[in-house]
Amino acid sequence: MTENVRKSECCDAEVRMEGVPDFVGGKDICTVSFVCNECGNACNILPSHDKQVLSCYLAGYFVPWGQHSDWRDFVLQELQDAIRFYDPRVDTDQGSIAMFISQDLAGVESCDCVFYFLTKSQGDVGAAIECTHAHAKGKLVILCIDQGLGFVHPFLLGIARRVLIGMDAGVSYLSLLSEYGLENEFQAAYKMMRASKKEN
Ligand SMILES: [Zn+2]
Repeated sequence: MTENVRKSECCDAEVRMEGVPDFVGGKDICTVSFVCNECGNACNILPSHDKQVLSCYLAGYFVPWGQHSDWRDFVLQELQDAIRFYDPRVDTDQGSIAMFISQDLAGVESCDCVFYFLTKSQGDVGAAIECTHAHAKGKLVILCIDQGLGFVHPFLLGIARRVLIGMDAGVSYLSLLSEYGLENEFQAAYKMMRASKKEN
């Protein structure tokens, strides 16, 4: 693995990580932050440039979205230049159930993350299996919940490392994730939280 050089947002300089114990008198370092080597302040980091293209499996029901015949077409329209998507509509042979399942799980394994767009409260068993498989393989599971959806199964919330409400938020997050890279996932999520705070 190549070392990822992180640069500060303030000075475009190299950064170091500093840790502080969470409890007074404790020695265990629990909170870490980046510090700019140029100005010495705590800083955000810039998106890395020489990162691998993010790959993402698109899980969920096949349902129309806006003027698109499927929500995946909207995601592809917005982000297909930035992310390599695995689209089960075209990337698997839908001919037989056995093929369908094994190819979909292989598709999950070939990706960095799974993006599950949940459009119905009872969920989609196929997508739930895909998310569980991804979780077991240590991959990032992103749950994007359609606006106005009430109940979401707690198991699903348990394995999702990011939960987003609404497709717009989902697309914004994926865009930031592709920009920052998987290794800086928290920075992407944090940037997104700050952006949505400003909007409100
Ligand atoms: Zn600085």
